[in-house]
Amino acid sequence: MTTPLVVPPAITTSASRADVLQAFDTLLQPARFKDYGPNGLQVEGRPEIRKIVSGVTASRALIEAAIAASADAIFVHHGLFWRGQSGCVTGWMKQRLALLLAHDINLVAYHLPLDAHPLLGNNAQLGLALGLNASGRFGEQELGWLGERAAGGGFADAFALAQHIEITLNRPVVQVSLARKAIKKIAWCTGGAQGYFEAAIAAGADAFITGEISEPQAHYAREMGVAYFACGHHATERYGAPAVAGHVATALGLAHEFIEIDNPA
Ligand SMILES: [Zn+2]
Repeated sequence: MTTPLVVPPAITTSASRADVLQAFDTLLQPARFKDYGPNGLQVEGRPEIRKIVSGVTASRALIEAAIAASADAIFVHHGLFWRGQSGCVTGWMKQRLALLLAHDINLVAYHLPLDAHPLLGNNAQLGLALGLNASGRFGEQELGWLGERAAGGGFADAFALAQHIEITLNRPVVQVSLARKAIKKIAWCTGGAQGYFEAAIAAGADAFITGEISEPQAHYAREMGVAYFACGHHATERYGAPAVAGHVATALGLAHEFIEIDNPA
């Protein structure tokens, strides 16, 4: 007597585009935010989704990598459409759209809702990567996070915190600080959040961690004695997209892959 061969059920199933979008909307609640571009489906592709590729930005390099990885949907933090664009499909926009449409791939983008999710968003995940405990929020739309070192004890000074960030993110940071004082209260906001620095100072932070710096913030840091760390827009926003897309993919039985396209900015 022969034993019938047991075929394990396929791990990957498929879900309708509508169900996938519903899952993202339920998790990220985009209606709660005033944003700079449309959240959710930005480019419609095929109606059934088996694999999601996540990334930071819907660049041509990411779209090409997603095509090579047989993605049905791309999930990003920075989509294609922003307020203030000309609206013309020329140059880089034509190239990216042409690739998406030719390969029938859905482009799904969530901007501020992806920064804000309390467990899976960019701020939550950056805090986790840096070993920071969040205890409060500050700033416009409460997108700034405030906390302290999870291990306790804070950091001896801004230089110790800078070293910790550089090792964790594996890149150099731009640091502005004069005071050799202990860092206890740490504020952070991923990406281009230099505009949140004054709110972080008002919230009582000893240090502010974000992606970018503009000219005025260097002076504010020196004059107010609050350390400023510009750690890269991309580098600080690498964590939310894979966390959210991975969560939804697992819930729906889909395949998921995060593709890192390095960006020094
Ligand atoms: Zn960003």
